Amino acid sequence: MSHVQRGYDYIVVGGGSSGCVAAARLVSEGGARVLLLEGGHSHRHALLDMPPGIFKMINGSKFMRYHQTVPQDHLGGRVHDIPQGNVLGGGSSVNAQVYMRGRPSDYDAWHDLLRGDNDYPGWSWKDVLPHFRGMEGNNRLQDDLHGGNGPLLVSDPGHINEVSRWFVQSVQALGLPFNHDFNGVSQRGVGFYQFMNRHGKRSSAAYAFIAPLEGNPNLKVELHARVRRIEIENGVATGVTYRDASGQDHTVHADREVIVAAGSLVTPQLLMLSGIGSADHLRSHGIRCIADLPGVGENLIDHPEVPITAIANGPYGYYKQGVGWRMLANGLQFKVFGSGPITSSGVEAGAFVNPMDPAGTPSIQAFCVPIVYLDRDTLDSVEDTYGFTVTTVIVKPKSRGTVRLRSANPEDMPLVSPNLLKHPDDMRMMIEAQKYFLRAFHEPPLSEKVKRIAIPAPGETSDEAMALHCKRFVKTNYHPSGTCRMGATGDAMAVLDTRMRVRGVERLRICDLSAMPDINAGNTNAPAMMMGSRCAELILQPA
Ligand SMILES: Cc1cc2nc3c(=O)[nH]c(=O)nc-3n(C[C@H](O)[C@H](O)[C@H](O)COP(=O)(O)OP(=O)(O)OC[C@H]3O[C@@H](n4cnc5c(N)ncnc54)[C@H](O)[C@@H]3O)c2cc1C
Repeated sequence: MSHVQRGYDYIVVGGGSSGCVAAARLVSEGGARVLLLEGGHSHRHALLDMPPGIFKMINGSKFMRYHQTVPQDHLGGRVHDIPQGNVLGGGSSVNAQVYMRGRPSDYDAWHDLLRGDNDYPGWSWKDVLPHFRGMEGNNRLQDDLHGGNGPLLVSDPGHINEVSRWFVQSVQALGLPFNHDFNGVSQRGVGFYQFMNRHGKRSSAAYAFIAPLEGNPNLKVELHARVRRIEIENGVATGVTYRDASGQDHTVHADREVIVAAGSLVTPQLLMLSGIGSADHLRSHGIRCIADLPGVGENLIDHPEVPITAIANGPYGYYKQGVGWRMLANGLQFKVFGSGPITSSGVEAGAFVNPMDPAGTPSIQAFCVPIVYLDRDTLDSVEDTYGFTVTTVIVKPKSRGTVRLRSANPEDMPLVSPNLLKHPDDMRMMIEAQKYFLRAFHEPPLSEKVKRIAIPAPGETSDEAMALHCKRFVKTNYHPSGTCRMGATGDAMAVLDTRMRVRGVERLRICDLSAMPDINAGNTNAPAMMMGSRCAELILQPA
């Protein structure tokens, strides 16, 4: 083995949404010496700082790593991408910045599942709310549910496109009430999202939590440092081995703990490469099993998303806002005043509703995007012109997928099978969601701007046709979670105990979305930050 580097209390693997928060709290509140190893690039880049940059990145950029699913038999063999941030800040540096936390019942359900664990520290809404509030610097809402002084800057949209307003009005015409705060007392309704930015400038985990610690000798951030293996000696995690940009391998020792936060698709891969996982699966790749945990890589949960796309009958939305003289004018306005279309990621308006029981608890989240917005494997299905898209997303899907090793080589991406819409209840719900929001396209004012609905194709309104449409277009809403989940004592598929410690291996924790027992209803960035924050707290305040 090469020379082992020392001098760190904690090594955090992956500088994404959760990893940055955990590392920052351990340094700033624990006075610990922390090495943060990030496989991707620096977060300081104009494309990342401008909210609309997301649309350039989704279909091809060095700031993303594109996991590709294995052929999905239930989708007729289709494969689709699952892009993940490949940059300091992880998802928070590339995402659409929509600020959502999920609803109290998400965490109270975790509590019911987890409270039987020995040393249970608390995961109910009452336990996690202080983390959300403490991190939040909201520019409008400061109350029992919202914080105003935290480092994560949360703002109302600086710019709202007319298409977003029409969407809100048309959905109101369906009977759904206006909601001014989807993170408030009720999710239900239609309205405008809040964003993790200020004057359009992204408030990522890198900017909000790591940048303020620049110059602190206790925090070392290594970029382009791709971890290949967790070093485990006699059942104790002692450090990690990573490969730097020049291809050289380094082994680093952690005096206290290794914390893995490489995201829900890579974290289980790293565990398996290190001998933690299903003994049979590890054996099939010639890997010696150190801890036989069959739950590693199981329980992959993601939010499935299906689009409805209309071609506009006029120059509405953001098409062509990023070219020619408009780009110059918009760019100048953004640079000088921090205002205008470039402050917007485009996803300004949305809704939460249960299409089968519109007065009940929402089962669907919708996003209105004032462009023709499709994944690269479906982009050729519609003309490149003025239009708008409403995507419908199941917030509590029942389908579950897997992450498995492709090989024992850390260079190989894992085999990912998310099984989106495989559960018949998910398909049923998605069909109802599509029908519900298609109705909004037939209500004024939106209906007055529609030249034609392109997707689903005209006539595709029977359940069978809608199911085929969903199978053709379903994709990730970018929220893979749950692949190394926490569980109570005696839960054979739990990978972690409720203090986020890997069962059967000492001094090893996981603090990213993999640890979630079930996905929250809504976007996942703030929940990932909460997980990082809670992990640091559990370390700093032992049972
Ligand atoms: C395109 C896109 C749009 C999104 N839009 C929104 C939104 O609008 N609102 C919202 O709330 N959420 C959104 N999300 C989701 C949200 O950003 C993620 O759920 C969240 O960032 C996940 O946090 P994490 O800590 O679990 O993982 P990540 O943030 O993905 O962090 C994992 C980190 O580990 C690094 N890494 C991976 N492998 C290694 C390795 N071997 N060694 C070292 N480092 C490694 C990665 O580069 C990454 O930085 C979006 C995500 C994407 C991709």
